[in-house]
Amino acid sequence: VIYLDGKYVTKDQAVVSVYDHGFLYGDGIFEGIRIYNGNIFKCKEHLQRLYDSAKSIMLEIPLSFEEMQDALIETLRRNELRNGYIRLVVSRGPGNLGLDPNRCKKASVIIIAEQLAIYSEEAYRTGLKTVSVSTRRNIPDALNPKIKSLNYLNNILVKIQSNLSGAGEAIMMNAQGYVTEGSGDNIFIVKNGVILTPPCYLGALDGITRQAIIEICRRKGYSLKEEPFTMHDVYVADEVFLTGTAAEVIAVREVDGRIIGEGHAGPITLKLLEEFRSIVDQDGVK
Ligand code: PLP
Repeated sequence: VIYLDGKYVTKDQAVVSVYDHGFLYGDGIFEGIRIYNGNIFKCKEHLQRLYDSAKSIMLEIPLSFEEMQDALIETLRRNELRNGYIRLVVSRGPGNLGLDPNRCKKASVIIIAEQLAIYSEEAYRTGLKTVSVSTRRNIPDALNPKIKSLNYLNNILVKIQSNLSGAGEAIMMNAQGYVTEGSGDNIFIVKNGVILTPPCYLGALDGITRQAIIEICRRKGYSLKEEPFTMHDVYVADEVFLTGTAAEVIAVREVDGRIIGEGHAGPITLKLLEEFRSIVDQDGVK
């Protein structure tokens, strides 16, 4: 069952208006959240990002933080789901054909909870083949990358480009040529034992998994820096990995035809994946 504006309905009944500005203009925000053994991983952090995104685009979510959390728990309970993925969408709601959000009287809230199968366990050892793409990340002064908005056309174009190159994922840069992130994941590189990830102001989402990895690095004493880098640094890195709610921590074995390190997941990537998986059923809301 799907949560739709306060009701629990079947997939067939879960329909929104063609006048919804989420559909007409991509006017809305969303979150992707994982559940591990009944634990909604980093639930509060995801909801905080959602409510912050909403405030930034002046979208009033018709549920309080606590009510939203309860709706997530209830949706999982009704679907008897203890492991999987939640897609939480808040759109501006139905309005008219004009883009004025004042015409939209009430935001729509949708919660979909499903099983998730993204990468095989083997892919975590072999790593992904990736390409860099010419599509640039939305620059901060156009749409702040901290807002997780429904406008994903950039990311879709990136995905199309990586599909055309036969790659599993793509690496995006900003207009200045600094590496920002993947189509739906953050990026890290490792060089001489130092872990680097781009600062979000360059044009990356402030990923919850990214933050979890930064915390693990600090706790475990790894040297980590948030620092700008270019594709050259990616090509010559010892290890490259991507992080995201769905992907967790996944190695990159090839970038634009350059083999990274030994051509499979490196030791730091695998250690961070192990550390990450050891906290996923603890750090959250049950
Ligand atoms: N970057 C983009 C563009 C994304 O869509 C996502 C996925 O939510 C991420 C990064 C990773 O963020 P998180 O770890 O919060 O899932």
